[in-house]
Amino acid sequence: MRQTTTLHVETGHERSHLPTYYVDLHIHIGRTEKGSPVKISGSKDLTFYNIAREASERKGIDIVGIIDCHSPVVQDEIMDYLHRGEMEEFEGGGIRYRNTTVLLGSEIEVKDPGCGAAHLLAYLPTLGEMQHFTRWMSRAMKNVELSSQRLYVTARELQREVIDRGGLLIPAHIFTPYKSVYGSAAPRMEQLLDLQHIAAVELGLSADTEMAGCLSELDGIPFVTNSDAHSLPKIGREYNRLTMRQPTFTELAHALAGRDGRGIDANYGLNPHLGKYHRTYCASCETVLGAGHPQGERCPLCGHAKFVRGVMDRIVDIADRLEAPPVLAVNRPPYHYQVPLEFIPGLGPKKLAALLDRFGTEMHVLHKAEPAELVTTIGEETAGYIMQARRGELAIDAGGGGRYGKVATSSR
Ligand SMILES: [Zn+2]
Ligand SMILES: [Zn+2]
Repeated sequence: MRQTTTLHVETGHERSHLPTYYVDLHIHIGRTEKGSPVKISGSKDLTFYNIAREASERKGIDIVGIIDCHSPVVQDEIMDYLHRGEMEEFEGGGIRYRNTTVLLGSEIEVKDPGCGAAHLLAYLPTLGEMQHFTRWMSRAMKNVELSSQRLYVTARELQREVIDRGGLLIPAHIFTPYKSVYGSAAPRMEQLLDLQHIAAVELGLSADTEMAGCLSELDGIPFVTNSDAHSLPKIGREYNRLTMRQPTFTELAHALAGRDGRGIDANYGLNPHLGKYHRTYCASCETVLGAGHPQGERCPLCGHAKFVRGVMDRIVDIADRLEAPPVLAVNRPPYHYQVPLEFIPGLGPKKLAALLDRFGTEMHVLHKAEPAELVTTIGEETAGYIMQARRGELAIDAGGGGRYGKVATSSR
């Protein structure tokens, strides 16, 4: 991937005395501990507490954004943990559990007149603020207990509300074919939102910095890469490395804005080819179709209706800077292709357990473990894949039409 150079020299120097953190801002709650559903498609063990523990003990993710904290049943659970003293609220916003900070967020669906639906992420500093926000939303939302529900106000009204409450607004997985700003709502983000008051945009699993660089309206807006996890193992499949003074909400806001030596150092995301909506794909004739086919049209080859438009092909359709995508108009942190451990061929539950036993967290396995130690723990072949992944050298067979891509096992 392209690395940025000029500005980085300065900021790197400035930032060197501040700590760095691994950050994943998009994790769903499946149910509460008492069994109330929150995200129906999320796994049952994806509770507030289990997310905090998984991030802290196994993943090594320092800051997690849980984006179903608007749900009153979830808020009750958070209050219990605060009262019991197992978790505590930071003065700068966010909730501390052992080595991890939980940020309180909400994923919300909006649909402006004449546009398709889009998901937006809102983060607020404290539980109290989130509870007020829930009360505001409940007037324009049918079931405020559940995840990612439609809010019957315009995108701009929601944005203003979040900003006025001291919150951060981040459009979610902006290119995915369902329920995203570019994928289904509009060809330009400025049609929906005030671009001055967007903290960042989330690239989503099928896009990277270079692809998003084809849209010039994103130039002033930072990119983040998050997991959108619907189960515990998926936490941290995409994440960011941020420099900030402390792992708090306020510091996150500074880092996204790049203020005073804080900033986003790197994005770690799936190779877009691994994403399940990378190319426009007809499931009927099993062909990759490419750009220029609006969602739901007929396949030009077999006539089958309703194929899923791929992220890359959508970007080709709406880009205003396609000729020169390599020249990013703004300084961007490097985007590292990250192959999550679950994609590594031959790495089953047993080997994963052995790795975590030996190295502590997945972040440690992915970034720091010595090659020789990896070999003694899980054998030469599997260790070889991890090292190839670390160097960005694993070959990938592209995904499409809702199927994930795969690591090509012939690549060794
Ligand atoms: Zn979403
Ligand atoms: Zn989501």
